Amino acid sequence: MSRVERLRELLAPQQLGALFISKEESRTYLTGFTGSAGAVLVTASEVLLLVDFRYVEQAAAEAPGCEVVRVPRQAADAVAEIVRRRELQRIGFEHEGLTYREYEVLSKALHPAAFVPVEGIDRLRWVKDAEELAHIRTAASIADAGFAHIQRFLRPGVREREVALELEFFMRRQGADKEAFETIVASGVRSSLPHGLASNKTLEAGEFVTLDFGAVVRGYHSDCTRTVALGQASARQCEIYALVLTAQQAALDGLRPGLSGKDADTLARQVITASGHGDHFGHSLGHGVGLAIHEGPLLSPREDALLEAGMTVTVEPGVYLPGWGGVRVEDLVLLTPTGCEVLTTAPKQLMIL
Ligand code: ZN
Ligand code: ZN
Repeated sequence: MSRVERLRELLAPQQLGALFISKEESRTYLTGFTGSAGAVLVTASEVLLLVDFRYVEQAAAEAPGCEVVRVPRQAADAVAEIVRRRELQRIGFEHEGLTYREYEVLSKALHPAAFVPVEGIDRLRWVKDAEELAHIRTAASIADAGFAHIQRFLRPGVREREVALELEFFMRRQGADKEAFETIVASGVRSSLPHGLASNKTLEAGEFVTLDFGAVVRGYHSDCTRTVALGQASARQCEIYALVLTAQQAALDGLRPGLSGKDADTLARQVITASGHGDHFGHSLGHGVGLAIHEGPLLSPREDALLEAGMTVTVEPGVYLPGWGGVRVEDLVLLTPTGCEVLTTAPKQLMIL
């Protein structure tokens, strides 16, 4: 089934005449259009790609399967007119796809047609096809090359920001369209910040440095975290690192289709909890990765969805001790029929640089 056909399966059960798709990832997934603005109206028989003047030519080139309709940048009245002409009574929208203001304006313009939130559209993207996987593999291998490249820059006296810049520049030169998210370089006590963006702090001997970074290739992301020690590692540092790596390996060994996101999270969390550091692992084990850097399914204590072959998720346990530092190790993996394939190949034994 095509992507649009799978989306259309959501129409009948909710008595929807059309779905209004506004999230960038969804637009790209359904149509191939990569512009940063626009919407897609999918009815039982049509796929209308609604774009303003800036994107008309690009949309026609990238989305030959759609009817491209030029609309004003404030498109609510134009959307309402399209809906009226087709006598559609009920239009669904992505429940995470609109601001409250956009919702207000659109629902008023569409009246008396009902404008109702629909969940589960993102879920269409969870299992990747061969072309998507090829892009994700390329993005992962660029991040691997980035880690190999950056090691010689990790020296006392270098600023976190210089490290991030060098890493991003390198990945661009390797063919990345851009970085997958703001690169995290967190050294010393800052390494206890799970999302410590690169700062002006200089690296110092004896510190942990956590790097969390990725590349985007044709819209698809990769996501990798490595923690290294500079100059030397104390017994305590070695112990915490070994704990995180053991937990990560336990998750990789156990990950397979049929597990819920919750069960997957437990694979690593039970190792960390048993060591007494449960409170220091305050985030989920992982998340789906694709056209969005963070998407479903989550590997989280709150995720009931079941893993399936073809999903790409991260496995990224961490232990963070405020005022001391932290360790995270993150790989990107592909669920296979019997387990998982680790797409990240950057080494992960504790490196002392
Ligand atoms: Zn990451
Ligand atoms: Zn991640």
